Amino acid sequence: MNRLILIGFIAILAILPQLAATPEFWITQINYIGLATLVVIGLVVLTGVAGLTSFGQAAFVGVGAYATAYFTTAAGWSPWATLFVGLFFTGLIAWILGAITLRLSGHYLPLGTIAWGLSLFYLFGNIEAFGKYDGIAGIRPIEVFGISLASGRNMYYLIWVLVLLAMWATHNLLASRPGRAIRALKGGAGMAESFGVNTAAYKIIIFVYAAMLASVSGWLYAHMQRAVSPSPFGLNYGIEYLFMAVVGGAASVWGALLGSSLVLIIKDQIQNWLPRLLDTTANFEMIVFGVLLVVILQYAPGGLWPIVSAPFRRRGARGVKAAPPPPEAPALPQRPRPQAGQVVLDVDAARKEFGGLVAVNDIGFRVRAGEIVGLIGPNGAGKSTTFNLITGVLPLTRGMVRFMDERIDTLKARDIAKRGVGRTFQHVQLLPTMSVLENVALGAHLRSDVSVLAGTLHADRPREAQLLHEAARQLQRVGLGDYLYEQAGNLALGQQRIVEIARALAADPVLLLLDEPAAGLRYKEKQALGQVLKQLRAEGMSILLVEHDMEFVMELTNHLVVMDFGTKLAEGPPAEVQANPAVLEAYLGGIDDEEPAHA
Ligand code: ADP
Ligand code: MG
Repeated sequence: MNRLILIGFIAILAILPQLAATPEFWITQINYIGLATLVVIGLVVLTGVAGLTSFGQAAFVGVGAYATAYFTTAAGWSPWATLFVGLFFTGLIAWILGAITLRLSGHYLPLGTIAWGLSLFYLFGNIEAFGKYDGIAGIRPIEVFGISLASGRNMYYLIWVLVLLAMWATHNLLASRPGRAIRALKGGAGMAESFGVNTAAYKIIIFVYAAMLASVSGWLYAHMQRAVSPSPFGLNYGIEYLFMAVVGGAASVWGALLGSSLVLIIKDQIQNWLPRLLDTTANFEMIVFGVLLVVILQYAPGGLWPIVSAPFRRRGARGVKAAPPPPEAPALPQRPRPQAGQVVLDVDAARKEFGGLVAVNDIGFRVRAGEIVGLIGPNGAGKSTTFNLITGVLPLTRGMVRFMDERIDTLKARDIAKRGVGRTFQHVQLLPTMSVLENVALGAHLRSDVSVLAGTLHADRPREAQLLHEAARQLQRVGLGDYLYEQAGNLALGQQRIVEIARALAADPVLLLLDEPAAGLRYKEKQALGQVLKQLRAEGMSILLVEHDMEFVMELTNHLVVMDFGTKLAEGPPAEVQANPAVLEAYLGGIDDEEPAHA
């Protein structure tokens, strides 16, 4: 975002209520926009970024509003104390609901949010102490340093200070270590687990985060209205918040502001004009919104913010390339390396059945420190499945996998990553809209410990610098130093595979599993990759390599394991294996399969 525009925006916001010419009606309208923006910022993280659709945010607004309404009127507490009471209850309820609902997949998640959104709504209307459907009235205004915020013009400032704070915090969060993990939740959750990200925990964290923002909005609302009743916390408002997020652009905090403003202004206009045109007072705005939603999803699936902000973005292709790498920073801690020759990986009679298909048939082999082991075989031989068994992506049907003398076949993918197993995927799994640098920084997730709180408060700068420096170092090492700030999805497929190697290296692995890393590379690029792998081996790295290019494999590997139809055909030094009649047979019989598979 352009800094000057930002300063101008804040200045206008600050001056507006001071101008006597500003109608009271505007102030009220802008206050409502601020309240909605708070809720929608949460939805940007939850739905836009992480892909978790919630129709239930209005209920969390209600929890914040009712908490402050009840405790300030019935118990006489200060509104500032009840803000935190509200946050506590909202956090607790969101945590419980999240733990239950977020396990649901696909369409069941939005349906789940509708269910508890409705339940909370009816709860508000049925609790005696909350005044049932009449609600609670006589809530006193908030005071700041002795100044009463009874008037809309005073309340305005508190609302917008909190909105700007929420935007700042959320913006920080998304650009931090936890933010990269959150951005991986939509479309890259399995990959993220392979780099140690606890995706289930992050889902709950952002669910609570979004609910708390809604709760703050409810707190402000209660003291602005000085009364609460259940209706503004019902399902139709939950839908409206989601609508705002979609209209504005669900992946940006500015989109939240844009969406809330547009929807509330349009709604107001429709409510003014439709009754005059149609001679009715029915809620026709819902129909207009429905049509608008379809049009936007059709023509601007990313919402309106990317379109509105396009003229202000200045990064051309040249600018991306010319930008300097992130500044030097202290190196991240490294794990101790095993001694050369020590057995790092021991696959023992590993078996995987998919229904009646035996994809991996009691396979066994070892990888030692400082060794490149090639795993070859025709397409469908079970190589990628073997990778998934080693890395915990798939459970074994039978057998055992040991890593550094520890059994790992019972561990989760992220716990195996924690022990020092890094991998690439046959079908590239990068986050295409994230920069190359950030994609690689995600690989180093486990080497830092920046919390969500530190990320939102920008207290993570030194550690973030370390992560970015490490990511840049790994990218330079594999020859992609010119593409640090490029969107990963813009690179050629071969280069994307190399980014995956850099990401795996950023995890500081002891064992590196590469699934067809040279597929799609040109001759020169293959040679460069070969050099990098040799150097890694010289540094003591153990590598398990699946590759179809036999020249590449023969040149690099110390040891070969050949698979066919899930079964181990042969194993030994490359030259010996190459001359093995069974291997020749499998390969001659399967020449068609020798083309590299593509995603
Ligand atoms: P390779 O990597 O050697 O080409 P794979 O490990 O991808 O082979 O696949 C081995 C066999 O297992 C193939 O027949 C494939 O169709 C099957 N397979 C792989 N993954 C699954 C899965 N998730 N469900 C069912 N079958 C699978
Ligand atoms: Mg494969």
